[in-house]
Amino acid sequence: MIRIESEPWAEMVAHARETYPNECCGAMLGSTDGERKAVRAAIRLRNAFEGAQAARYELRPEDLLAADKAARERHMDLIGIYHSHPDCDAYFSKTDLQNSCPWYSFVVLSIQKGEFHHANSWLPNFDQSEAAKEELIY
Ligand SMILES: [Zn+2]
Repeated sequence: MIRIESEPWAEMVAHARETYPNECCGAMLGSTDGERKAVRAAIRLRNAFEGAQAARYELRPEDLLAADKAARERHMDLIGIYHSHPDCDAYFSKTDLQNSCPWYSFVVLSIQKGEFHHANSWLPNFDQSEAAKEELIY
């Protein structure tokens, strides 16, 4: 279960709306208590994908490292990654799976016609062959 506090949630939705019709991406910072995760801050990251960004995002490893460092400085952990799906459902695509890693939650925000529509959180398995839906509260 992952719970996103109202401030980071508002930031994530604003980011996704601003980058529409392109995909946005960012880091979610917070804490983990067993199966329960709490997101207390969101950090916008650059979509580094060189091609059309309407259906693709890419994170640079150095940006992820910086987000991880920022989390630790604020006594939090990097617990997940978010990105948007412009005019598309919040599913976990094959590309998303390939670019995933099993220790993060992956929140996908569906933005339809520029407005927030729905969101899902995904937990990829260890061989990145499938992702399970995680209960998401925001
Ligand atoms: Zn995606």
